[in-house]
Amino acid sequence: MGAVKRERLEMYAEGFHCLGFWHSHPEPRPTPSNDDIKMAREHAQAGKNDFEGLVFAIVGTDAFPPGLGVWVHDGVTLWRAEPEAQDVGVIKLSE
Ligand SMILES: [Zn+2]
Repeated sequence: MGAVKRERLEMYAEGFHCLGFWHSHPEPRPTPSNDDIKMAREHAQAGKNDFEGLVFAIVGTDAFPPGLGVWVHDGVTLWRAEPEAQDVGVIKLSE
């Protein structure tokens, strides 16, 4: 059993769910690495019975909003969440 699956089972047994991750990148406008995408996909697939997608945020070195990248992985596709307007909390998803 992989470390991701084992950790998920241990935390789930204690009543916790993994809804997403965040981490930082040393680049102005972050983009997910291949390892990031692989980890997001594995967690999204592992949680498929509990929720539709895994939230994945990366903080870059630029000021927000360009320095913050937010995606949702549905187990197949990593969708980019982009603000529609800065003064409201609405996001849209694009592949
Ligand atoms: Zn990363």
